[in-house]
Amino acid sequence: MGVIKENLEVIRERMAAAAIRASRNPDSVKLVAVSKRVPVERIQEAVDAGHFLFGENYLQEAQDKIKKLGPEVTWHFIGHLQSNKAKPASELFQVVETIDRLKLAKNLEKHLAINDNILSILIQVNIGRELQKTGVLPEDAEELLQSIAEFPHLKVKGLMAMPPFLEPEAVRAYFRQMRQMVDELVVKGLLGKDGQPELSMGMSGDYEVAIEEGSTLVRVGTALFGTRQ
Ligand SMILES: *Cc1c(COP(=O)(O)O)cnc(C)c1O
Repeated sequence: MGVIKENLEVIRERMAAAAIRASRNPDSVKLVAVSKRVPVERIQEAVDAGHFLFGENYLQEAQDKIKKLGPEVTWHFIGHLQSNKAKPASELFQVVETIDRLKLAKNLEKHLAINDNILSILIQVNIGRELQKTGVLPEDAEELLQSIAEFPHLKVKGLMAMPPFLEPEAVRAYFRQMRQMVDELVVKGLLGKDGQPELSMGMSGDYEVAIEEGSTLVRVGTALFGTRQ
C-alpha cells in the first residue's frame, strides 16, 4: 500500500476518533487535503485512494493541477487572494475560504454576476490578531458578513481561521473562540441559513484538537503528503 493511502487512513481514523471524543458525528468533519507544492502525480495517488477534496494556495500552480485531475475533484482556495485575481479564482474553485475584505468580495460578485454563477465562500478571521496574518479582525467580521449578504452571487458558508502557530493545546482556546463566533453569527442570522455552518480550522499539528472544538473542515498537508519542498 502506498504511503499516501496509508497516511489517509491514519488521518481519517484520527479524525473520527476526535469527533467521537467530542460526541460529534464523524461524518460532520471533512478533510481538505492541502496540496500546495505537491506534484500532480502525488495528488493523483490520493485521488486513486478515494480522496476528492483538495486545497491550494497559489492560483497559477492550482490551474494546471485542476485541469489535469478532472471534474470529480473539488478544490478549495486557501491562500491569500488579491482582488485583481477574483475572476480566475471564481472560475477555478468551488469554495474560496479566504475572504477577508469587502473589496475582494465586491470583485468576486462583479465577475460572478456576468454569468450568473454562484460561489461558496468562507470568511477568514484573524483570530490571533497577528499583524503578519491576513483575515478580518474578530470585531469586524459581523459588518463584513452584513455587507456580503447583499451580494446575490456569494454564498457565505462559514468561517475559516489560521490561529497562532503554537502547541496544539495552546491553540485550543483560539479554536474555541472561533466556534463561539460561529454560534453568535448563527443567532444573529448571518450564518447557517442554508444548513450547518462550516468552520475551517486545524492543520497537520492540531487537527484533532480543532475537531474536538467544532471544526467541520480540517486542512491537512504535511501529515498526508510529507514535508514540502
Ligand atoms: C499550508 C497550509 C495548511 C496545511 O498545513 P500543514 O501543516 O502542512 O498541514 C493549512 N492551511 C493553510 C491556509 C495553509 O496555507
